[in-house]
Amino acid sequence: MNGSIKIQFLGGCEEVGRLAMVLELDDVRLLFEYGISPRKPPSYPMQPDPVDLVLLTHAHLDHSGGIPLLFSRYDQKILTTKLTGEVANLLHKDSITIAKSEGYAIPYTPEDVKEAKHAVTPINPKQKRELGDNNEVYFHDAGHIPGSIMFEIVGDKKILFTGDFNTVDTNIVRGTKPVPCDILFLEGTYAGRDHPAKRQEIEKSMLDKINEVVTRGGIAILPAFAVSRSQEIAMVLRKSGYNVWFDGMGQKVSKIFLKYPRFLKSPDELRKALNKINMVHSDHGRKLATKKAEVILTSSGMMDGGPVLSYMNKLKDDKKNAVLLTGYQVPESNARLLFDHKMLNFYGVKEKVDCEVEYFDFSAHAGHSELVDFAKKCSPEKIILMHSDNREALVGPLSEFAEVLTPKTGEIVNL
Ligand SMILES: [Zn+2]
Ligand SMILES: [Zn+2]
Repeated sequence: MNGSIKIQFLGGCEEVGRLAMVLELDDVRLLFEYGISPRKPPSYPMQPDPVDLVLLTHAHLDHSGGIPLLFSRYDQKILTTKLTGEVANLLHKDSITIAKSEGYAIPYTPEDVKEAKHAVTPINPKQKRELGDNNEVYFHDAGHIPGSIMFEIVGDKKILFTGDFNTVDTNIVRGTKPVPCDILFLEGTYAGRDHPAKRQEIEKSMLDKINEVVTRGGIAILPAFAVSRSQEIAMVLRKSGYNVWFDGMGQKVSKIFLKYPRFLKSPDELRKALNKINMVHSDHGRKLATKKAEVILTSSGMMDGGPVLSYMNKLKDDKKNAVLLTGYQVPESNARLLFDHKMLNFYGVKEKVDCEVEYFDFSAHAGHSELVDFAKKCSPEKIILMHSDNREALVGPLSEFAEVLTPKTGEIVNL
């Protein structure tokens, strides 16, 4: 039937994790994202029937983490940016390493990871491609992290799939703009929550706090996500002149980012920021850092693994030190345990933390009001809300100008 649109969420509509959705147009079947919920062990979306193409907005595991699993069943072609392809590959390989060290099974092999890497058909923002006989897909910057894009499908109707997006500029990428459409698939990570302050104010209050910590003779430990947040924070710190040490997978991610300057707001600024920082590659370096650093920037952002735990093991008892969280802490994460209860789980053993703990909201997502404003300016007839554990908070405000749908995982909807 001409002009028919059918969707099925395979996961991630009522949670911020394991996003996957099949969109069926007249003569093409598309899979948008195939993410995981990165727990121990991770959870995966439902398995799709074969599709013609996979469309991937960005590398974060809640969007890309299950992609190798698709290749354990049949070959696919993935439309995404080259940068996203490389970062996703790094994260997929790391997922296998983590599974091994944590002792749980993972449902794909290193061979599947390699196949996924080679299946990437690179695309760039402001380009378009044919989709079957009746549709085209356009690519727009999403403003979320370097290489992130939104997909606009143009046929009988205009359809926009946002993935994660941000409308305000950060140090690392520029914010995105609304795209007029008929049907809007909208992420809702920050549904019901607005960012408490403007970017510059958050940066200033974090730098003020670091100053306080360093002045009293302590070390500021900044746990940060390896993908984009570490680099963003490195750029904020560049203006400060502190003795900064950088550890973890963020170093590799930085190298990939710098290979694709077109996806960065200011590649030169990022390069300069990283050049000023001491890179840690070994246990010896870690020891040195705890003696010499004023600031330690390290993964993982949620403190569930990575070098941050070995630093915390050494630095947690000294009240002069401080942990400055730079990202939202999902419930049940180690960072949330630290923020709520001043405790940390060291590979199965919970211990008390005496140093100061603070949170700075360096989010890469549109906040609640920005989500509503973005959606309104897209002027859609229908909005399909996804990727949110609080969709109810958005239904009211969005219903004032569009029909709002909140499908459940597994449900098939004809639009
Ligand atoms: Zn993301
Ligand atoms: Zn996400």
